[in-house]
Amino acid sequence: MFDTHCHLNFSRFKKNVDEVIRRAKNADVTQIVIPGTDIESSKKAIEIAEKHEGLYGAVGIHPHHAFQITSYELSGEARSRFARRVTNLVTEIEKLLSHSKVIAVGEIGIDRHVYENTKYEQYVVDEHFLAIQRELFAKQIHLAIKHHKSLIIHNREATDDVLKILADNWDTKLVGRAVFHCCEPSERLLSFAKEHNMFIGVDGDITYDQKKQEFIKRVPLEMLVLETDSPYLLPEPLRSRKEYLWRSQIPLRGTNEPKNVIIIADVISKLLNLSCEVIAKKTTENAQRLFVM
Ligand SMILES: [Zn+2]
Ligand SMILES: [Zn+2]
Repeated sequence: MFDTHCHLNFSRFKKNVDEVIRRAKNADVTQIVIPGTDIESSKKAIEIAEKHEGLYGAVGIHPHHAFQITSYELSGEARSRFARRVTNLVTEIEKLLSHSKVIAVGEIGIDRHVYENTKYEQYVVDEHFLAIQRELFAKQIHLAIKHHKSLIIHNREATDDVLKILADNWDTKLVGRAVFHCCEPSERLLSFAKEHNMFIGVDGDITYDQKKQEFIKRVPLEMLVLETDSPYLLPEPLRSRKEYLWRSQIPLRGTNEPKNVIIIADVISKLLNLSCEVIAKKTTENAQRLFVM
């Protein structure tokens, strides 16, 4: 099987990454893509991928971490210089794209969610911050086009923006090479994905989110790819066994990991009335097409 989105580059896996990878391979999850969310985690993704067969890195600045540009401004830098900050970050990402184990630009996109757990003080989603997110997203889409890479798209509560920016910057090179990761259950996202030959990423929340369960029945099987988004989105029944940080998705104990991709395949197989083997096989083939393997 193929876990198309897993943050083995995050500090939660610092102590046991090799063990987690071993457990994944024992569970027949032999291919994993590790997306970056900033420069540091993008480099870390490459570093892990270099050491393990079947593991690949994606590099990119996540919209949440676009806030680091706002942080410069909060420390006194002129707002008008944000364009240069964006360009500098994109240049850093572009350098990483030449590595042989980097198969995609990601995760990139737009995120309007107001996070309670964030390292950024004074985190606020205002129009200026969204302007920075849009600029970064568009510029990174162009990196994928320029360097013939696939695209991992993060969209949280921002479908209008994401679809507009994708449409405005679309290129035929992206056909069959982009995924709405952790796709929100939206008909508009689905029809855009169908029109542009994109993929839909399904996570552990399919095990408990009824809207997503209904949504998945309307997605053609050839568009589905599986992802754990580890360490987040622990699937049921593991999720109920854990304690959670107050009002957050982050478990205090227990962490999601790529071996759990089988749980997602199993739930989809029940929803679609197909065997788990068929779901595993098809989604693996889809992921290999998405990342051109
Ligand atoms: Zn994401
Ligand atoms: Zn992610």
